[in-house]
Amino acid sequence: MINFHPNNQQLALFAEGNLSPAEALIVSAHCDMCEHCQRIVQFHTESVAEDLFADDADGSIDFDSMMSEITNIHVEPNQPAKSYSKIIELDGKEFVLPRSLNRLSSKMGNWSHLVGKIWQAPVDIGGVNVANFIYMEKGGSVPEHTHRGSETTLVINGEFSDGIADYDSGDFIQLNGNHTHTPFTQAQEGCLVFSIVDKPLYFTSGWARLINPFSHLFFK
Ligand SMILES: [Zn+2]
Repeated sequence: MINFHPNNQQLALFAEGNLSPAEALIVSAHCDMCEHCQRIVQFHTESVAEDLFADDADGSIDFDSMMSEITNIHVEPNQPAKSYSKIIELDGKEFVLPRSLNRLSSKMGNWSHLVGKIWQAPVDIGGVNVANFIYMEKGGSVPEHTHRGSETTLVINGEFSDGIADYDSGDFIQLNGNHTHTPFTQAQEGCLVFSIVDKPLYFTSGWARLINPFSHLFFK
């Protein structure tokens, strides 16, 4: 069950087309998995459209192009997601991607096996943000860390915990330098997440502190 959602302001900005491309991508992928947020985005999308019509007293606005912009960001609530979804594979396991992440499957680098039963595959999303698919095997954990910038994570499949909360498929988690956490999973099937950060992580305890000078090379 999904317990963590983008906040209302993020959903409104998403509907208006005013989120950064990286944030819009991960909010859109969350909405693919979350009917609750699809409805909120639909509501905001309709009010954006109403505002536009109300403002167009002299008929000068090109509604065709505006409406096509709006429908481009609109998430179809009843889309049969799976029939359009790409599958990514790791070690014989297959994962169905949310529709908004489909195009990323062609921009994925190779999986690399990191310490602590963690696998990572980088994804080129352009811009300054760095995106990765991260898979934690059962018993896997990412060393305790905080964030120099922000870290936005969508749980694609499975469950994990981080000492702050327990997360399930579809959960949207946004953390920053105020949060220190240690993601781990005990789920039998492990956990696949999609994560975007704007600055390298900062490891805060044990041996992992030694790798901070190199943390831009992975988990970045
Ligand atoms: Zn939601």
